[in-house]
Amino acid sequence: MLPMFQVAFYGKGGIGKSTMAANVSYSLASRGRKVMQIGCDPKHDSTRLLLKGRAQGTVLDYVRSVPVLQRKLEDVIETGAGGVICAEAGGPEPGIGCAGRGILTTFDTLKKLGVDSLDVDIKIYDVLGDVVCGGFAVPLRGEYADAVVLVTSGEFMSMYAANNIMKGLANFDTGKPRLLGMILNSRGVEDEEASVRRFAEATGVPVIANIPRDYAFRDAEAAGITVRELRPDSEISKRVDEIADAIADAAEGKAPLYYPHPLDDLQLSDLAAGREIRSPSGATDARIPCATCSKRRKSIRETKIMNSCAAFGAMAAFMRLTDYTVILYGPRSCMYLMDMSHGTVSLRLHRRGIYATDPTHNLRCTMMDDTVSIFGGVKHLEDTLYKTLDEGCRKIAVVTTCMPGIIGDDSERVVKRALEDYPDAEIRFIPADGDMTGSYSEGMTIATVEISKMIDTSVASEPGYVNLIGHSFFDLQWEKGSKELNRMLSVFGLKVNCRFLDECTSEDMRMFCRAPIDILVSGDATNYVNSKIIADRTGREPFPAPLPVGIREHAKWMRMMGERLGMQEAAEAEIASAEADYRRFLEEHSRRFRGKKVILLNRKNDWIIDLLLDLGADIVRIGVFPGVRQYFSEVTTVHQDRVDEEYSLEKLEKDMDSLRPDILISDLAYPVRGGCKLARIKRIGAGYKGPMMYAEYLENIMRIPPTEGWKGAVQ
Ligand code: SF4
Repeated sequence: MLPMFQVAFYGKGGIGKSTMAANVSYSLASRGRKVMQIGCDPKHDSTRLLLKGRAQGTVLDYVRSVPVLQRKLEDVIETGAGGVICAEAGGPEPGIGCAGRGILTTFDTLKKLGVDSLDVDIKIYDVLGDVVCGGFAVPLRGEYADAVVLVTSGEFMSMYAANNIMKGLANFDTGKPRLLGMILNSRGVEDEEASVRRFAEATGVPVIANIPRDYAFRDAEAAGITVRELRPDSEISKRVDEIADAIADAAEGKAPLYYPHPLDDLQLSDLAAGREIRSPSGATDARIPCATCSKRRKSIRETKIMNSCAAFGAMAAFMRLTDYTVILYGPRSCMYLMDMSHGTVSLRLHRRGIYATDPTHNLRCTMMDDTVSIFGGVKHLEDTLYKTLDEGCRKIAVVTTCMPGIIGDDSERVVKRALEDYPDAEIRFIPADGDMTGSYSEGMTIATVEISKMIDTSVASEPGYVNLIGHSFFDLQWEKGSKELNRMLSVFGLKVNCRFLDECTSEDMRMFCRAPIDILVSGDATNYVNSKIIADRTGREPFPAPLPVGIREHAKWMRMMGERLGMQEAAEAEIASAEADYRRFLEEHSRRFRGKKVILLNRKNDWIIDLLLDLGADIVRIGVFPGVRQYFSEVTTVHQDRVDEEYSLEKLEKDMDSLRPDILISDLAYPVRGGCKLARIKRIGAGYKGPMMYAEYLENIMRIPPTEGWKGAVQ
């Protein structure tokens, strides 16, 4: 018994390929073949002539309305004329969703429902060939089409579509030729046969049938059946039978299949102009795999892993505005992934069980499901947005994920309409489009630019205020950290006006210009980007030094601020007091550190190096792993001569044995040995006191015995 043979009929929309496919299916069935025909055109009229003119229910409508566990194959197939088993993919309304994605879902659904177990000899796919996107190209894949038949007329656009399908076929090269030939379905245009013959010759594909225009098609259409049934002895039916014979022969390996040579642009222009088609200008052999396929990576080892997506970055930025509600326009899975990833905003939703809507939290998700990729998802956005507005929220940010970006949802239209319906609302649209736009930082930047538009640049500045600029205020949210910062600012009688961006309101943003000084919380790359955004919006430059960490930076910063405000005396008094405090601390604590050997990993921050040196520790190595995030921010140190920029785990292994450190300071969960202690690199607040507290933490680590007592007792 021969294995099942699958044939894809491709052709431009309206060219008559469904009529042809139905006639050929019937012809094959009437010769004893068990045939199945699957329509792959959103128009879903492929099987109509096999079902007495009745439109069949589509797989995609079924998927949309029936839950996964209740789906059955018999619900989506019907038996038509000659016993041909029929199925229709269906698709979205024109202009929304993604019909190509629908084809993928149809094939996937049929497979899961067990279509392969049906007793079928020949399967015919009737596919719209106007767009050979990834979805409509599915039947071209080796696992589906053993042979491809192109249906064309002598009209240029029809041959152009056929040429594109040949190109698509090249991208699914299976190592075997698969093109059976072309069917000329005549439309009665001038020189039609000659044009198609020239096209066929130039592409190296035979014309397997020439179907003339005939009223028999119209009559059969009116009767809701195939010509092959209506006029079995007609000339048309004979030609249909020839096509069926060619397919049956190919199924038995008796008919040749071809590699096409699709025309290049210049050749197409010859075809369009009705000229002799010139020789190809370059290689167009469909056997040559596309450049992308041949350059496919074998491993992700050398790949930089993206630090979460733009949608998460944009969402994280807006979540810092406490009076804003953020609507994540995407599926629940995006929210889950963001929740589980390590962004600077920790959603912790999984602990609360809220992936849907929770009025107490300022984050919502539109909960798009798997059908939106086919039918579009604006309805989901409308529902969530209007529900949020109806609940009284008037400040809303809509952040888009990959899904609406891929399927081309017109989300902005929904936002504009909502703004018309709720003129008192402030709805900001952030087309982050997931990783199509870029990484977390890029999304955060897009959102930050949008937020910066809230700044009212006409607000007059008032002395006594500063703004803080930083993408994360983690350090300052730590109570002691923020207390120390407030103390430092109070030396000059300063108060924080706006935290850009953390725990602030849109009103704080509006009043941003009230503070005459903008201070960077730290000097990392993202904060510089934020300060640039502020500078673009307000025309102001930030204070030249970010918040200090460590005794030396503290003194420098105090002097600069003192000079800026004309309060040098207050600055010097603070410096003297801080230095005395620090000296006392060193006297008290150095004895525990003197001579201790330290390996410090992945940090080039001066404060920690200065602290260890001041305490008398011996830093035997500063190792920096060239990691995936290294490009993100370049922090340099005055102790550069001690840094090994190309550090590795192998080097660490060797150093552990040869240098025998007392402490390894690292965020790496490395199994230390030989009495060495592992200490984390902690985030600390601004000023000189944070490092002192960190030294106490190190002391505690050193005090802990290498093996806990209870472990000894158990062993
Ligand atoms: S990359 Fe796209 S799919 Fe993945 S979480 Fe982000 S928005 Fe969602």
